[in-house]
Amino acid sequence: MRGLIAFGLLAVAAIAASVWLAEHPGLVVIDWLGWQLSTSVGIAVLALVVLLGLGILLYRIWQAVMGAPGRLSQSAKLRREHRGYEAVTRSFAAVASGDAEEAERWARKAGELLGDQPLARMVMAEAAEAGEDRVRAARHYRALLEAPETRLYALRGLTRLALEAGEQEAAQDFMRQAYDLKPDTPWVLDRLFQLSESSGDFAAAEKALKEARRRRAMTREEAKRKQAVLRQAKAQALAAEGKASEARRAASDALSDEPGLVPALALKARLERDAGDTRRAAATLEKGWARAPHPQLAALYRSLRADEDPLARVKRIEKLTAKHPGHPESEIALAEAYLEAKLFGEARRHLTAAKALGETPSQRGCRLMAEIEEREHADRAAAAEWLRKAEGAEPDATWICRQCGTQADDWSAHCPNCQAFDSLEWRSPRRVARTLPVAAAPAAGGATDAEVEVVEPELVPEPEAPKRAG
Ligand SMILES: [Zn+2]
Repeated sequence: MRGLIAFGLLAVAAIAASVWLAEHPGLVVIDWLGWQLSTSVGIAVLALVVLLGLGILLYRIWQAVMGAPGRLSQSAKLRREHRGYEAVTRSFAAVASGDAEEAERWARKAGELLGDQPLARMVMAEAAEAGEDRVRAARHYRALLEAPETRLYALRGLTRLALEAGEQEAAQDFMRQAYDLKPDTPWVLDRLFQLSESSGDFAAAEKALKEARRRRAMTREEAKRKQAVLRQAKAQALAAEGKASEARRAASDALSDEPGLVPALALKARLERDAGDTRRAAATLEKGWARAPHPQLAALYRSLRADEDPLARVKRIEKLTAKHPGHPESEIALAEAYLEAKLFGEARRHLTAAKALGETPSQRGCRLMAEIEEREHADRAAAAEWLRKAEGAEPDATWICRQCGTQADDWSAHCPNCQAFDSLEWRSPRRVARTLPVAAAPAAGGATDAEVEVVEPELVPEPEAPKRAG
């Protein structure tokens, strides 16, 4: 539409100009270097317009010819970049799927195609780390420190590499830099906590927790749990040094964060008992039993009065178990007390209530039942039968590391094997029932069935892939 209007206006102008020229006729004469040319003004103007148009056309052609190599090289560069990005994608995919060699191959390609671009550096660093070439990975991360957009990423990689190499001080230094750069990054706060607690610096670890909580990098529950475990670790360290009253205070602090923390309840009650304060120890255990009934607490509660009449003990245990009636641990504690008092009927009743003898009997339940048969009726055969059942029963609960499956008799803040923080949980070891043909089975006493159940209480999960958290 606009073009049409412009064309119309131009046509009108041209017609007006020709009319005006026709009304004002004249002659243009050129006399130059012996040449003579004379023509009308109209023709001279037309010739001028044609010459101008020709000039513009020639200029355009010249421009197009001169610009061609640039445009060609531009498209080659784009193609190269495109291939580079494809190599980056393939390398990252290989890292994620655990193929270090493939990752390395594509990372090298990306490096060739993309040169010194941060993206190429990133993929080369990741591939080098996947291939456990820490020196090369560190070199790429260091180069990435320069660009502001990849600085935090580079610091995270360098921290990880330093920790893997056991260079605590270097790791701490990189983390400080990361903290200065972006203090509310969750991995920075989490790592700061881990580093200080693993080096036994409880005060710094608590400070890191508070900071994480303040910056909302951790939920309230998570922070409380970690703080409780930290304080319990401190209590244990103090108790080991013989600082009983300080240890008691630290355990109390742990319980204020996590009132059902069994090791803290046990330590506090033990220290109170050892200090001669049995009344307070009993109160601690009763309060704890309401939240977390546990055989260790029951054992401590029994130990509060050394030479006690069995019937008096039954009364006392009843007071404890009333804090959590119906819980299997309450029923077992009562069964044990009744058995000691030779009240066998009651002992059986509570064992049954603990579901320790039903479809999935527990080893503890079977052993107690054997004792009842032995002591009540002096029935050796029945007792032996229960002990045989105990072998195939659900293994007793113990402290087991959530990360590596290691079993420990006592709780500690760190797994004795993999050093993971707060990874021990109280549960029965996983029992894997596998059926083997009898020939392959080890000499199983008296097993004449065609198949034998193999129990692997010490089943350890497969080793985890190298941890890349944080
Ligand atoms: Zn472990």
